[in-house]
Amino acid sequence: MPKIYLIDVTNRDGVQTAKLGLSKLEKTMINIYLNDMGVFQSEFGFPTTRHEVNYLNANLELAEMGVIKPLRLGGWIRAIPADVELTYRNVPGIEHLNLSISTSDQMINGKFQGRKTRDGVIKDMTEAVDAARAHGAESIGVNAEDASRTDINYLVEFGLAAKEHGADRLRYCDTLGYDNPFTIYDNSRILAEKVEIPIELHCHNDLGMAVANSINGAMGVIDGGQDAYINTTINGLGERAGNADLIAVILAATKSKDIASKYELAGQIKMKLASKIAKFAEYAFDVAIPINQPGVGANAFAHSSGIHADGVLKDPGNYELYGYEELGRGEPIKVETGREIIAGQYSGISGFGHVMGKLDITFKSREQANEILELVRYANVESHKPLVEEELLFIAKYPEIAKKLLTMTPLDSQYLDG
Ligand SMILES: [Zn+2]
Repeated sequence: MPKIYLIDVTNRDGVQTAKLGLSKLEKTMINIYLNDMGVFQSEFGFPTTRHEVNYLNANLELAEMGVIKPLRLGGWIRAIPADVELTYRNVPGIEHLNLSISTSDQMINGKFQGRKTRDGVIKDMTEAVDAARAHGAESIGVNAEDASRTDINYLVEFGLAAKEHGADRLRYCDTLGYDNPFTIYDNSRILAEKVEIPIELHCHNDLGMAVANSINGAMGVIDGGQDAYINTTINGLGERAGNADLIAVILAATKSKDIASKYELAGQIKMKLASKIAKFAEYAFDVAIPINQPGVGANAFAHSSGIHADGVLKDPGNYELYGYEELGRGEPIKVETGREIIAGQYSGISGFGHVMGKLDITFKSREQANEILELVRYANVESHKPLVEEELLFIAKYPEIAKKLLTMTPLDSQYLDG
């Protein structure tokens, strides 16, 4: 029986969103948390973007070291051969790629403005797949941007061409959140049955249906005989109204009426980490989790009206579909209300030693402490906010990796000389 796999795109769609951003250390922490949670893949960034290069290579190093394992790290690029070539110059060790190109007539006419035709789109895409194959990519996903507004017969043709050239998956992008659960079920099923490769669902929330569309799309793919891959983001943050929320997708796949008995989520998802990953994204993006967010919102398990409170006290099953403990909630959290010493970009060794001592980190020498402090200062320059304990621990444990994450060189010097 085919299954549902999760590909989280927070580090790609989430960070490319207007007004939002993450430091490279924060992106790395998200990869670590996704790995700990048991998510299948993280779309971890843009291999053709210069400032991403050190971060991407450092995260592949973490994967090799076993720190981020078995999570797959996939890069996102345009489906043109030039992007594939640049990717392998920048990030030679990358194993998983998603190649994206627009497929709808709206985009072909409105975006490419006559520079590309339907045949030209397939030509660029297949050449890009060939190039990625030639470089030894372990898995290649092909993204049909604006798939929901694309003629389904052309989409099948596009998918078959991708498959013929060795693509492993076809990503159905509901780029504008235009689908509804019925239309996406039908399209996904047709693609699964006619193209006969696994199908990815990439859904946006412009009409408030991203999670429902992702789930129904996955049902269509599985009913069509293929594995389904759902793209998620933490707290649903993504372009415009956002993407399908990671936690809500997992809850829907495992708790919704009749779904869990018929469809299976692949791997061992550790829901206990839900609250932690959502809170970290809230802090890192500096975007509050809505009070009514499924599972992780402040009100997700709050009751005040007489009948509800009485009912839930008698038996939580009366008014709750699932328990807060399942999402890792209910543990007391310590909040400092007295004196605070914080490690920041202008910190000195004394305060830093105090902060690290509280985390039970001791240093072999003053030199070593100074080196770690220097990295913490730079991490702070990039994130503009105090690092969380796990970021401090990460830097102390992997200083060489942290140094790579923090190293960015804008432009080649030849441009600057003139
Ligand atoms: Zn998107």
